[in-house]
Amino acid sequence: MRRIYLDYAATTPVHPAVIEAMTPYFNEKFGNASTIYYYGREARSAIEASREIFAKAIGADTSEIVFTSGGTESDNFAIKGVAFANKNKGNHIITSAIEHHAVLETCHFLEKQGFNVTYLPVDKDGLIDPSTLKKAITSKTILITIMHSNNEIGVIEPIEEIGKIAKENGIIFHTDAVQSFGQVPINVDSLNVDLLSVSSHKIYGPKGVGAIYIRKGTKIVQFMHGGEQERNRRAGTENVAGIVGFGKAIEIAMRDISKESERLTKLRDKLIKGIIEKISDVKLNGHSTKRLPNNVNFSIKYVEGESMILNLDMEGICASTGSACTSGSLEPSHVIMALGVSHEVAHGSLRFTIGKYTTEEDIDEVLRVLPGIISRLRDLSPLYKK
Ligand SMILES: *Cc1c(COP(=O)(O)O)cnc(C)c1O
Repeated sequence: MRRIYLDYAATTPVHPAVIEAMTPYFNEKFGNASTIYYYGREARSAIEASREIFAKAIGADTSEIVFTSGGTESDNFAIKGVAFANKNKGNHIITSAIEHHAVLETCHFLEKQGFNVTYLPVDKDGLIDPSTLKKAITSKTILITIMHSNNEIGVIEPIEEIGKIAKENGIIFHTDAVQSFGQVPINVDSLNVDLLSVSSHKIYGPKGVGAIYIRKGTKIVQFMHGGEQERNRRAGTENVAGIVGFGKAIEIAMRDISKESERLTKLRDKLIKGIIEKISDVKLNGHSTKRLPNNVNFSIKYVEGESMILNLDMEGICASTGSACTSGSLEPSHVIMALGVSHEVAHGSLRFTIGKYTTEEDIDEVLRVLPGIISRLRDLSPLYKK
């Protein structure tokens, strides 16, 4: 059966050139980068080459980059690291209601440790209002952590403005840019961010590797303790092959970013337009233009997200209800709920995220089978009246 993968926000296939770049680092070039003989130097220089690629991609200095095991670790490091390093200055953290679980659960943990966390609301399009942020700041605020773009509804937040407010108030600012990186241009100076998280497996690199940008001078405590790797900021033998693959994936993403985002935006808008035309009682979740080129998220009234996913799967189409982390749970998505919709509407959310291998035929196929699936499911729904 031909399968159509439309869940690129959950993960992406590793690019063939990435696999090729990584392969030698499993055996021929197997050295531990902390050793000083030939094999070690070889591994070290491969890591530093990736560091340069990433630093250049976001306008940072190589000394400001730390490789991690992925987006989750980068978020944990940024938030706990800053909170614990600055607790003599204050105990207040500001975030948003629509963050990824890697940020939300870290904040919940810190609440148990005596920190106070404000979860900023978003408007009906999923956007943070910078003036609401301004009002939430107190003399105790030490950290603002707000995502660059949302993984469920694709909305791109006004990070530059938020960063400016943080800077004016002398507050450290972290952004989770896992979904944005590789899709929209990112520059840490124009965004006014102090810390930024990224992940490799969302940009056609391997799983289990990511990075964090830490602006020079940012007060942060180490998260992993052990050896002196990563300038004493992240202990543990480096994932050399992973870091090499990540570097290659960044190189390819940066090379193709404008062409690819233009192509995906067209396919995205075709899918959005098609769903609105062919299916009644639907609502696009997330701002219509301030959104990632690859994200389509709808609430489809009178049907349940899970049933749509299973029925699409029978037609060979892989989609999602929103977040890989919450699938299987019966709770509606916290992101869709934050848009101010009812429980029922939130239960009917359907996300398609397109990517490198998505074609126009794939979009046509979705638009061909989806209306039938929805109408069959609605016929079974007691809530739906024709
Ligand atoms: C995927 C994702 C993460 C987690 O990254 P991992 O590398 O899978 O740990 C964090 N934040 C956002 C917005 C994501 O989409």
